[in-house]
Amino acid sequence: MAKDRLHEVLKDWEAVIGLEVHTELTTLNTKMFCGCPVEFGGETNTRVCPVCLGMPGALPVPNEAAVEATVLAGLAIESTIAEWSQFHRKNYFYPDMPKDYQISQYDLPFCADGHLDLEIDGDGVAQRLDVAQEGAQGILAHTDDSYDVRIGITRIHLEEDTGKMIHVGGSEGRIAGATHSLVDFNRAGTSLIELVTEPEIRTPEEARRFAQKLRLIWLSLGISDCSMEEGSLRVDGNVSIRRRGETEFGVKAEVKNMNSFKALHDAMAYEIVRQAEEIEGGGTIVQETRHWDVAAKRTSSLRGKEEAHDYRYFPEPDMVPFEFTPEWIESVRAKLPELPDARKQRYMTDYDLPAHDAGVISSDFAMAEYFEACVTLGGAQRARQISNWMLGELSALLNAEGIDVSQTRVVPSMIVELVELLDDGTISSKQAKVVFAEMAETGDAPGAIVELKGMKQVSDSGAIEAVVDAVMAANPDKVEEYRGGKKGLMGFFVGQVMKEMRGQGNPKMINEVLKSKLG
Ligand code: ADP
Ligand code: ZN
Ligand code: MG
Repeated sequence: MAKDRLHEVLKDWEAVIGLEVHTELTTLNTKMFCGCPVEFGGETNTRVCPVCLGMPGALPVPNEAAVEATVLAGLAIESTIAEWSQFHRKNYFYPDMPKDYQISQYDLPFCADGHLDLEIDGDGVAQRLDVAQEGAQGILAHTDDSYDVRIGITRIHLEEDTGKMIHVGGSEGRIAGATHSLVDFNRAGTSLIELVTEPEIRTPEEARRFAQKLRLIWLSLGISDCSMEEGSLRVDGNVSIRRRGETEFGVKAEVKNMNSFKALHDAMAYEIVRQAEEIEGGGTIVQETRHWDVAAKRTSSLRGKEEAHDYRYFPEPDMVPFEFTPEWIESVRAKLPELPDARKQRYMTDYDLPAHDAGVISSDFAMAEYFEACVTLGGAQRARQISNWMLGELSALLNAEGIDVSQTRVVPSMIVELVELLDDGTISSKQAKVVFAEMAETGDAPGAIVELKGMKQVSDSGAIEAVVDAVMAANPDKVEEYRGGKKGLMGFFVGQVMKEMRGQGNPKMINEVLKSKLG
């Protein structure tokens, strides 16, 4: 769908979006209520036991690390942590949950009332028309080409994940047309946190940035691998629209199955336009769950409200309630690592990176880790150069190869060595680019490449003076003209000297020697 169409619709309509984000705590060793290992893939139904298979009489024992990870997540988004809470049973009959209920949380989640601040720029600014308006939802600050917005977070609770259904015989693993269904319980019982936002997101771009920033925070906390492809980070989007100026919310549709940030953005944009066209055409929006079809780039109805479940929540009788003491909560808070906003600030103040560069590096977890590794390996004094190489040559290489920075041959120590060789004058910046290309190709260290290719920059003043003398002797007329005021000939002399030295002369020294000799 053309982005122009979205912008056009947003002139008359305001979108209201609330996200529900499920994150599997994949970095924990064991499941939520039993000792089964947590691992992606693996032979079906091998990582199971009587507890996660829901055998009669098997009792759940809560995983302390999962409870702590949830509280840590809550503290990272500035939630209030409940001092008293408990698990509830969410009852439903579906084969992906062998107990016929899921242990979840209901009215007493571990974390309530948090928020996330987003910085929106680029095309996202055009999507949000009310930034400069008094009382615009969540707007903290704005300039002509960017704005900061605060999105409220209702809650985070902890629950257990379900097993995985595999529908066979239909299309794309969907139920429609399937002849039979299989179930894999390896995932059943994995710790899962669910975060719910307030309906305060106003554009597809805000939705995308929210999910990206949340993922970055979760990665910083180390609580999940947050893979949208493998389903360890799953985002559902609730969308409704209302006429600009209207204060009542419209009827919402919930969109599922968006397994990339782009899909989230595009599905929200599609849904806003669909709803507007539906209403403008005289129709109405019905509350329903819709499925995002990545290939067809559209949403389609999955099930209506009449199929909504009555979960009959009741307190889980097999576990005592939780009482978190303020001391314990503070001990978890002490484990909070540096979060993305603070990291960006530190890159600006400690390493003098421009705001834009600090933002790009700190908002990509793998890039930030790479940068940290460079700094630790002795690159602190040359952090700005390192960042330039990362955002320039290295990013270009990653794009060309279609890989992540954690997968490249060009490891942090190589970049650190490269900027050192440049800084101490061993190689020129032109040679550094050749060295970079070579290390990307071979994985050899820069020092070894310089040695092997005999690339060392000549900074021996005697050698440079000899060549300068020879060039001047061979071009007496040009020397005359230069001394007569044609200063533009400097470029000619530098070029000649460089040529004689096969490109290996130190350009700065050549310039200095030429200036003094030409007078
Ligand atoms: P439900 O009872 O249907 O689950 P909730 O009130 O629990 O709805 O909200 C679920 C999610 O939907 C939340 O993220 C919330 O912000 C969002 N939401 C609620 N009402 C609307 C609406 N009218 N339009 C868009 N999103 C909404
Ligand atoms: Zn188990
Ligand atoms: Mg709800």
